[in-house]
Formats: sequence, C-alpha cells, structure tokens
Amino acid sequence: MTGMHKNLRNLPGVDHLLESAKKDAEFSDIPRSVILDSLRQVLDGMRKDILAGTDSVITDEIILSNACFLSKEKIKPRLVSVINATGVVLHTNLGRALLCDDALNHISAIAKTYSNLELNIDTGKRGIRYEAVDGLICELTGAESAIVVNNNAGAVLLALNTLARNREVVVSRGELVEIGGSFRVPDVMEKSGCILKEVGTTNRTHLRDYESAISENTALFLKVHTSNYKIEGFTTSVALKDLVGVGQKKGVCVMEDLGSGTLIDFSKYGLPHEPTVGDAVRSGADVVTFSGDKLLGGPQAGIIIGKKESIDQIRKNPLTRALRIDKLTLAALESTLKLYRDEEKAVQDIPTLRMLTMPFSDIVKKADILFQAIQKAIESLADIKFSNMNSRPGGGSFPELDLPTRCVTIQPLNLSVSKLETAMRLSSPAIIGRIEGNRYILDPRTIQDGQETIISSTLARILKEK
Ligand SMILES: *Cc1c(COP(=O)(O)O)cnc(C)c1O
Repeated sequence: MTGMHKNLRNLPGVDHLLESAKKDAEFSDIPRSVILDSLRQVLDGMRKDILAGTDSVITDEIILSNACFLSKEKIKPRLVSVINATGVVLHTNLGRALLCDDALNHISAIAKTYSNLELNIDTGKRGIRYEAVDGLICELTGAESAIVVNNNAGAVLLALNTLARNREVVVSRGELVEIGGSFRVPDVMEKSGCILKEVGTTNRTHLRDYESAISENTALFLKVHTSNYKIEGFTTSVALKDLVGVGQKKGVCVMEDLGSGTLIDFSKYGLPHEPTVGDAVRSGADVVTFSGDKLLGGPQAGIIIGKKESIDQIRKNPLTRALRIDKLTLAALESTLKLYRDEEKAVQDIPTLRMLTMPFSDIVKKADILFQAIQKAIESLADIKFSNMNSRPGGGSFPELDLPTRCVTIQPLNLSVSKLETAMRLSSPAIIGRIEGNRYILDPRTIQDGQETIISSTLARILKEK
C-alpha cells in the first residue's frame, strides 16, 4: 500500500510537464489547451494503472512522448480525403458527388471576398440569393420557376409543408420509401404537418386508387421516385402525366420527388433511360424536387422547381429561411449547372457524369495502370489479377444497375484479406476497397488519376511490414 501511495505521489505535476513541453520542438505547433488536455489524460491513465497495480516505469520523457502522440491525434482533421476504390460513384458515406473544377474555383473566389449574395448590383437594392441559379435552372429544365434549399430532404419537407399542411397527401404504398436510413417518406410527411393517405398496394397502384382517395381535404398527390430499389414482376404504377390529368380536373396539386434528378438522358451513353427533370416538368407537375449532389453531380442542395404559383408560395414559407442554401454551395451549384449548357462539356467536366459514362475501354486502361503500379511495388507478395465485375452508381440513382468494370483483385500471400482491407482503410489517406471471394477488390472507375501510385505504395508498405 505504501508503495502505491508513493508512486502516486511521485507522478510529476502537470504544470511542470507543460513547461517541459513548451521547450520541446515536437510540441511547437500544438495549442497549449491541447497539450494540457493530453498531459492530463496520460497522467489519469497512469494513476489508474498505479491503483490497479499494473504500473510500470514512469519518467517525464515517457509522459511527454505519450502526450505528444495524443496531441497529434487530437489536432488531426476529422474530415479527411479518402480514396474511393469501391466503384460506387455516388457513395453517400464517402461524400457523394465530387465537384468539378469550375465549382471549386467559384467557391474559392466567393469565399475569399465579399459577394453580391443578396445585393442587386444594378439597383443597389436588396437582392435575392436564389437569383444566382433560379433562371439557370428554369433554362435547363423548362420549369416556370425554381428555388434551392439545403438538401432534397429539406426540399420535400418545405414543399409539403407549404402546399399541404394539415391536409391530406395521397401516396402509393409502393412509394413509401426509406432513403439512407434517415429519410422515410411517412416521417417526412408527419414532420411537414401533412396527413398521409396511402393508396394501392406495394406492387400495384392504379389511377382509380388516387381518384377514389380524393376528399375535400386532399391537397396533393405525391409521387416518390423509388430510387434505391426496384419492384419487379406483376407491377403497375401511375405515370406522372396521368396523375396530373386527374389533379388538374379535381384541383389537387401534383408533386414528384425525383430524388436523384438528372438533367441529361443517360441512354445516350449506353445506360438505361432514367426520366429526366425536364420530363417531369413536361408532364405538368406543379412541383418537382431533386438533389444537387446525386446525378446532377454538384454540391449538396435541394432543388425545387415547378409552377410559378407553387414556387411563390414556397418562397414565402418561413421554413425556407431555416433551410436556406449557403453561399459556397450556391457558387458551386451555379458553376455546375452552367456546364449543362453544353452537354458534351458537362459529361467531360463533371466528375460524377464522367465516371458514370466512362467507356469500358477507358476503364481497361485505368485498370492496366493500376495493375502495373501494384505489380511493380509489391512484386511477389500477393497474387494480382484482373477481374471483370460491376460497379454501382449508388446514391439512390439507377436502382440495381450494374456498370461493367474491370477490377484489380489482390490476394496477399502473407496476410489475410480482411487484415489487408483494414490496414488499407487505416492508412493515410484511407483507401476504401472491398472484399469479395477472399480477394481484395480495387475498382478503377472511382479511383482518380494519380491515386494509383498512392495505392500501390500503401499496399507495398503493408505487405512488406508483415
Ligand atoms: C436521396 C433522396 C432524398 C433525399 O435527398 P438529400 O439530398 O439526400 O436530402 C429524398 N428523396 C429521394 C427519392 C431520394 O432519392
């Protein structure tokens, strides 16, 4: 017992340690508060070890070196770049769409200086922030009017709250979807203050189901793009155009949540046809909503377009202020949208479009580069092969679509595949691949130019360390 107390008493004081740290070059870029916090954490740990009888040698050097390690961990950014080798183009966990260069340049220009965010330069009077993009969105989609908010979940909430609060919204049972765990149509409906009226069945909903659901309290027909799953087999759903026909006759608004709205027709690039935002507008819907960072390939945003009357009502809703888009996002969105005036340029310059429409021959070239780099770096430490597999668009776009790709697959000779996957993920930058059939899979579709050498040298380090 006395030995334990003596050891506790012998722990150096935090002030004394802090003085030593200040003189130590290793700590030179670390804020004092962080050093102090780390020193306390280390001392606490040592106190617990002493009380548990598991203590070992304690010196100032050991405490300082542990505190230095902890401090460096604490000052590292939490949000960091990672390498996406999964082939999932719109990977929600990995930040969805990559921005195009124009968007990055625009963000940087707007962030560094004052801007005309809410100033009309011509008149010197107060301007409207949405004017940076609303005209452009109408030009590209054919809509009468547009407004943008923080994200598409916000867009749906805002539109429902504006157009149908305390009233009934009719939705097909086949479209009561959950997107990414936190966006469920029935929950959003409730938070918008609307009353959900489900019609039809999971697999089949007919126009007459919508018609017979109409009461004097019906405000809106809502169609939700079932973007992350597909109902196949004996199915029927009602076309937006037909719903609009009934809506107009009965005085019921029609809204479509497209989720991952696209401005281009992907069937031109060998992908399946996804209805475009323009198609939804031409069907005559009162309101259409979609994301900025899914197939559009821009920043996180929620885009609301439609009839002037409905959008004007939405603009006046106080919730609009709570969900408003920030200036950096607005800059990125404007630059991304501008590229769509020349579709060829959009497909080249917007990373999401480029990766989705990448010709197989380009993927083969990328796979070759990756393969060569890896082979050169790791020699005989693993079995490396090509494998024709599928990439996924992700982000709730093109449900179930497989995009043919050529992966590089690795089976280490001296390490388990799962240990390799973990070590790649824990390296800096983190490399995110996947395991399939006891091989580590790298899909070149989402690997950006220049990242091949980072991947190969990381692999070499991990396999040689073993
Ligand atoms: C993704 C999605 C949303 C949510 O959009 P966010 O921009 O992620 O908020 C809503 N509805 C549908 C149909 C979606 O696919």
